[in-house]
Amino acid sequence: MTLHLYNTAHRKKEEFVPMEPGKVGMYVCGPTVYDRAHIGNARPVVIFDVLARLLCHLGYEVTYVRNITDVDDKIIEAAAKNDENIDKLTARTTAAFHEDMDELNALKANQEPSAIELGNGNFKMIEPRATEHIDGMIRMISTLIEKGHAYEAEGHVLFDVTSMADYGKLSGRNRDDMIAGARVEVAPYKKDPADFVLWKPSTDDMPGWDSPFGRGRPGWHIECSVMSEATLGITFDIHGGGRDLIFPHHENEVAQSCCAHDGAEFARYWVHNGFLTVEGDKMSKSLGNFRTVQDVLEEAPGEAIRLNMLSAHYRQPLDWTAEGVTRAKANLDRLYNALKHLEDVEAGSIEPAAEVIAALEDDLNSPQALTELYALAGEANKASNAAEKARIKGQLLGSGHLLGLLDKSPKEWFQSITVHHLKAESIEARSELGSPVLTSVISKENIEALIAERDETKKQKNYKRADEIRDNLKAEGIVLEDGPGGTTWKRA
Ligand SMILES: [Zn+2]
Repeated sequence: MTLHLYNTAHRKKEEFVPMEPGKVGMYVCGPTVYDRAHIGNARPVVIFDVLARLLCHLGYEVTYVRNITDVDDKIIEAAAKNDENIDKLTARTTAAFHEDMDELNALKANQEPSAIELGNGNFKMIEPRATEHIDGMIRMISTLIEKGHAYEAEGHVLFDVTSMADYGKLSGRNRDDMIAGARVEVAPYKKDPADFVLWKPSTDDMPGWDSPFGRGRPGWHIECSVMSEATLGITFDIHGGGRDLIFPHHENEVAQSCCAHDGAEFARYWVHNGFLTVEGDKMSKSLGNFRTVQDVLEEAPGEAIRLNMLSAHYRQPLDWTAEGVTRAKANLDRLYNALKHLEDVEAGSIEPAAEVIAALEDDLNSPQALTELYALAGEANKASNAAEKARIKGQLLGSGHLLGLLDKSPKEWFQSITVHHLKAESIEARSELGSPVLTSVISKENIEALIAERDETKKQKNYKRADEIRDNLKAEGIVLEDGPGGTTWKRA
């Protein structure tokens, strides 16, 4: 099996063959930093993180670029609304984005390859910021004007879509669809309603840079054309992002980059993830179902959030439900219980199982990869001889790592679950004002794992920790009774 990816440009699954043997360049549109990331923003981060891990595992030297859009009208609006300095706002929200993505175990820029241990390949992640590439944007816009693909009008520079014969090819839209698509802004200075902004004028109180077209700021689309070229070159292997970006954002990136470079190919494989809904509805602030990554981290550990993101195939819509998060937690309990069962065994070679690699090579079929991982956990619980246990442990850890999962010890996992239960209960307690009896939702497996941990800490004479576990369980409504035959428990 070799890696196959669905290429939006050709609307079919294709074998992935990089431009240069052994090397892959991948660009994924990153966040516009004006607010906390929502769970829809996190989906592409997790998906392309797994793709980057897989490419490394397959032995490629991977350069993964995920930009930060730090100049945008949404940022200007948010800063005015908060009465906050723009630089402060973007620094604060960029840091918050990094914190949230760390919780989801996403690979980081400037991470040491040795610390990642993804296999044979080398890994480099670059996180360019739009404001660091303004000169490049001014240069590309000037080139587009010189080549007859753009024009100046009332302080703006616009891309002339009629100058490009196959504009609309990536999204498969014809001109009427584009104009009817409402996302095209109608403005009197446009020659054609589908023309889009490359540069716009800034007033004195707005961020702006001097340019041959006057003081102003770039449009969003030109940012990605310039940052991808600066980091990966004119033609590169994979361009990713959410499918809502296909039109107009990615269509316009293609137009700018191809026209600036006399038709040279831009991205070779276009990979798009599906939409995310919440309990069956489109997520929106007005519907009150808007969920930030921080909101969902209150309810479950980041690893469960990550697993839930991977539970649907990336091209399918993902419906975010409380039930899905609970299921993800239970599945992680199962996986960590299997590892716990193998705790006394030294892992064999830490390599993903062949079935897990095959599932991911088939257009990143993460639900199938997870099914294979659960099957391994099942085997772990049945395995009887040491060699078999060692092999399974190595494969569980290796497969988990490929998906960005199972990096904790079973002990750390079950502790993090307890912390979340306690947090959830205190929220529930606060909302029910004085209601003293809370129904515990902690699972039998978790309780038993914590009792086993408590036995262990008692053996090590760490009575403080042992008491802490007993008290935490008590707070969950679980009463422990120590007897000559060991510890038993009951729900209070
Ligand atoms: Zn982009």
